[in-house]
Amino acid sequence: MFSKVLIANRGEIALRILRACKELGIQTVAIHSQADANAMHVRLADESVCVGPNAAKDSYLNIPSILAACEITGAEAVHPGYGFLSENARFARILAEHKIAFIGPSAHHIEIMGDKIQAKKTALELGIPCVPGSPGAVTSEADAKRIAADIGYPVLIKAAAGGGGRGMKVAKSEADLSVAFSTARTEAKAAFGDDAVYMEKYLGKPRHIEVQVIGDGQGNAVHLGTRDCSLQRRHQKVWEEAAAPTVPMDKQNEIGEICAAAMRKLKYSGAGTVEFLYEDGEFYFIEMNTRLQVEHPVTERITNFDIVYEQIRVAAGEKLSLTQDEVKFYGHAIEVRINAEDPQTFAPSPGRITYYHPAGGVGVRVDSAVYQGYNIPPYYDSLIGKLIVHGRTRPECLQRLNRALDEFIVDGIKTTLPLFRRLIKEPDIQSGNYDIHWLEHYLETNK
Ligand code: ADP
Repeated sequence: MFSKVLIANRGEIALRILRACKELGIQTVAIHSQADANAMHVRLADESVCVGPNAAKDSYLNIPSILAACEITGAEAVHPGYGFLSENARFARILAEHKIAFIGPSAHHIEIMGDKIQAKKTALELGIPCVPGSPGAVTSEADAKRIAADIGYPVLIKAAAGGGGRGMKVAKSEADLSVAFSTARTEAKAAFGDDAVYMEKYLGKPRHIEVQVIGDGQGNAVHLGTRDCSLQRRHQKVWEEAAAPTVPMDKQNEIGEICAAAMRKLKYSGAGTVEFLYEDGEFYFIEMNTRLQVEHPVTERITNFDIVYEQIRVAAGEKLSLTQDEVKFYGHAIEVRINAEDPQTFAPSPGRITYYHPAGGVGVRVDSAVYQGYNIPPYYDSLIGKLIVHGRTRPECLQRLNRALDEFIVDGIKTTLPLFRRLIKEPDIQSGNYDIHWLEHYLETNK
């Protein structure tokens, strides 16, 4: 096992990783920007190194500084968390060259899945069902028209290097295709420096269902069930559930097993998420994230399994600690993302937290790095905490969430808590009857 791990992240996820390291008896090194000198992840770590000024590109994304921090402290491994360098194959490769372990998959697997065209090809080869679409990159408008006619309108043009919903355009009919095709390419070029695009059938009312997987790089891999993350605003998830509320259990097991088998074939190492759209009883692969996800705690809650602890174990060369038969599911869990944002306009609301009282009690978990008096800096994303609630059944979980939301107090800044207090009263949320467009439609009609 490693004796010292550097945590290349900040906020709640840095704390989450730190906790797993402590339980494994591993010394921790926090890195931080100047703005984060007093942050909780820095206070709780055994050592800390300032890696640069406030802007993420100069600190949390600064590979030379992070390498230097590893050298100075003698860290043997780096946990990248999510975001920042977590899906950067170059970073994983540089660490390997310096004999430092990357707590995540191989650079090769990050690369395959980072390019969505290649990811889809790989998924098809591995027997994972995909959205019907172009077999590869589409480079001319004439080809785009031919392929669209083939798969049928509406179609979606997507950036190969995509992320965060950017470089994605819908064409409802052939009349829209020319504009959609050229704007998707221009956006992709501007956002990712790569104008490669591909095409998919546009699904009208899908749910976003994802499968959590974990492997040890030695051919062992399991799935830890599904999550439903359909409640999204601008492609950003705001509320996540495990297991997926409306998908029949046999279908969940079936897609889970397909994903686990694929990971065994790949000899995948570490945690990953295979994301699908689900419509009319069918799953369609959209992408794979080769890292820990924000919403991993709902899975931990229903499986009683510590995903981060296991990530560290397998990165140190140990075998997966459980077989698929040993994965058991208990009840239902929901996570809501508490963002420092106006709950109506979603404008960021950084500043000082004057009073902080997190929810507690039976079945409640709060992952957060904030505290009373903490000053939220304006330089990073607005997630300040996650409220995760568990119940034996979904109705019990909802009751508990309702109670926990009432208890939670964050004063001095605006948060998304009032939005969740409204959402939980909605009949569609109570029944689990929502798709990926539900939230935006709700926000549009309930201003
Ligand atoms: P990104 O990496 O940019 O987030 P994804 O491929 O994960 O791109 O898609 C993001 C979101 O876009 C999905 O969660 C879904 O809401 C929507 N989307 C993606 N592909 C399709 C599709 N074929 N039909 C309908 N909606 C889609």
